[in-house]
Amino acid sequence: MENLNHLQEDLNATASREEAQSTEEEAQEESPKKVRLKKCPRCGKKQGLENFAKHDTSSDGYQSYCKQCKSNMHKRKRKKNITFRIKHHFATRIKDQLGNACPQHLSRDLEEYLGYRISKLRSHLGEELQLREGITVREAFERGYHIDHVRPLSSFHCAEVDSEAGLELFRECWAITNLVLISAEENLAKGAKYSGSEETSREAVRI
Ligand SMILES: [Zn+2]
Repeated sequence: MENLNHLQEDLNATASREEAQSTEEEAQEESPKKVRLKKCPRCGKKQGLENFAKHDTSSDGYQSYCKQCKSNMHKRKRKKNITFRIKHHFATRIKDQLGNACPQHLSRDLEEYLGYRISKLRSHLGEELQLREGITVREAFERGYHIDHVRPLSSFHCAEVDSEAGLELFRECWAITNLVLISAEENLAKGAKYSGSEETSREAVRI
């Protein structure tokens, strides 16, 4: 036992020499034998410091997540942002549309009311846009495109979503096949074309 304790002390001494640049706190977190490796809490892999981006204010001078994880997180966030924007935009417009009859937890239960996932709508819009104009949904949003109803929202007269008939009409209005991404110019032109319906031109709102 005595020998083992000595061995452990030796190992600890080696470790603290190698760990000279890091703080004490981190030395405790890291395995003493692998001080040159840093564990990424996201993927769980222990990797060399070259796999971590530098970070001035962190205690060890490196970011906590590895470069690969950081890159994946950014990609996912960018993707998520568009879905989030569509959701937010829909919720706002549906609140306008239904007024007092709007369900209390509309934002939370949005996909349930719509009957589809926003990510599915996004794919559909993307495919259609790619064929029509050769651009992605992200590019369309960056150019200020609008989500428009093929058959105008105002023509549906949705009053509520609590009854079966009400929900059916609402779903028809917000059906994936009734939605399209168009440029602001196209939207204005469409509004002019249906000059009888002033609402049409106001309908598609930039998101
Ligand atoms: Zn990682």
